[in-house]
Amino acid sequence: MKVPYYYKSLDWKALVREYPPSKDFAETVFRYDRKKIAQVQNRRFLEIVEYAWRNPFYRRRWQAHGLRKGDIKSVKDIVKLPMVTVEDFKEGIKAKPPFGEHQGLGTRDGVRTPIKIQSSGGTTGMPRPTLFTPWEWEIQGIQGSRALWIQGARPGDVMQIPATLYTANLGWFFYLSCFHWSGVLPVTTGSGNVTPSRRQLEVAFEWGTNLWAAFPEYLMHLASVAGQEGFDLKKLKTKFIAAFLGPDLDGSLRKLMEGTWHCPVYDNYGTHEVGLPAFECREQDGLHMMEDMFILEVADVDTDEILPAGEKGNLVMTSLYRHHPPLIRYNLRDYIRLVSDGTRRCGCGSHFQKMDHFLGRSDDMVKLRGTNVFPMACLGAVTGDDRTTGEWLCVVERKESGLDIRDEMTVNVEVKEGAADREGLKAKLEDRLKSDLGVKVTVELVPAASLAAYTYGREGKAKRLVDRRFGKNA
Ligand SMILES: [Zn+2]
Repeated sequence: MKVPYYYKSLDWKALVREYPPSKDFAETVFRYDRKKIAQVQNRRFLEIVEYAWRNPFYRRRWQAHGLRKGDIKSVKDIVKLPMVTVEDFKEGIKAKPPFGEHQGLGTRDGVRTPIKIQSSGGTTGMPRPTLFTPWEWEIQGIQGSRALWIQGARPGDVMQIPATLYTANLGWFFYLSCFHWSGVLPVTTGSGNVTPSRRQLEVAFEWGTNLWAAFPEYLMHLASVAGQEGFDLKKLKTKFIAAFLGPDLDGSLRKLMEGTWHCPVYDNYGTHEVGLPAFECREQDGLHMMEDMFILEVADVDTDEILPAGEKGNLVMTSLYRHHPPLIRYNLRDYIRLVSDGTRRCGCGSHFQKMDHFLGRSDDMVKLRGTNVFPMACLGAVTGDDRTTGEWLCVVERKESGLDIRDEMTVNVEVKEGAADREGLKAKLEDRLKSDLGVKVTVELVPAASLAAYTYGREGKAKRLVDRRFGKNA
């Protein structure tokens, strides 16, 4: 029996020729003009569609949609292919447990190639698995190395990664990006549950951390611990923070973090399935999409109709490199907006398209009295006032009296101990939220740290919505 050694499992030279990492990307592909980008996308799109015809999950769906091999002649035909959603993958898993037909791979394939399982993070119940062969695995490391180089990381830097290396992908993602593709030393401390916050800070000061990759919630928590314990964050001389800012449209969260940590903060966007398709350059003016790896479309939330650049809708991604599983017209239901179609060159020199900060999950969108409300849209109001801790949780309830049914949202906002003028703060927040959300909500001021179970106390993204209607208690 032959062992499928990792070092033999990839054509490494072909990998970096096709998908250059780090500096090599910044100096070549990232500077392509629109024509060159379109050529690369067209070639790779036709290759991946050809490949996916051999995947039974896609073949069946495409045939049921009336498509035949050869119908897709160029990237312009992408709209002929049906979209897939997470429900399709979940059904696929139910029909063919434990991983589903769409992966095009099972544990028995482990005799010919190394396989790794990752999953979505911070979910309740059984996590949704996604398989990786060395090809997909290394490419996600390459994605991170590209973002890190352009944001200013250099060999010899030390990046602290307070995310646990478990089935969720985030910690692994930055570990790979640093260790395999950037020459940056990863310090994988795990979340605050693994390495307590005080020890995280000791490690950072002792071992020379000068880069961080983390969610804002945790970094702000860490900053407050630093304040209590007498650590001066200025002395860390942090080069930058790679974060996930969410819908920080007025820049208040970034400003707060940059002031607290004394360094630039860059936004990124990713999921365990697509890796990190979008990242900010040093212009801090939109997230560049890695268009040599993905084709992105924006679809209307209700009708799935493809929208022109500038309009808000669901992000639909086609991965040009993923074989296990192929991701073709995958509707992520992440609400975004394209802010640049790439025709105008960015100040950093790139023609890659740019999207706005991630606006929210359209799954988390609540219809409140006819208005679409995103709980994440509270961010600006909450982080914009320094009497709050920056944490909040929306609770939606149905109030019935006789025939009158009314859905109400209460926004619980954490307030720092000893904060002045609580009544004034409540009124100010209610006023601002009414304008930001488009509906009237009630603000409830709650003590600092009381929402920890939903926010920085969780692994992965913070939870911002509890929907108590229809017997839901998620
Ligand atoms: Zn740029």
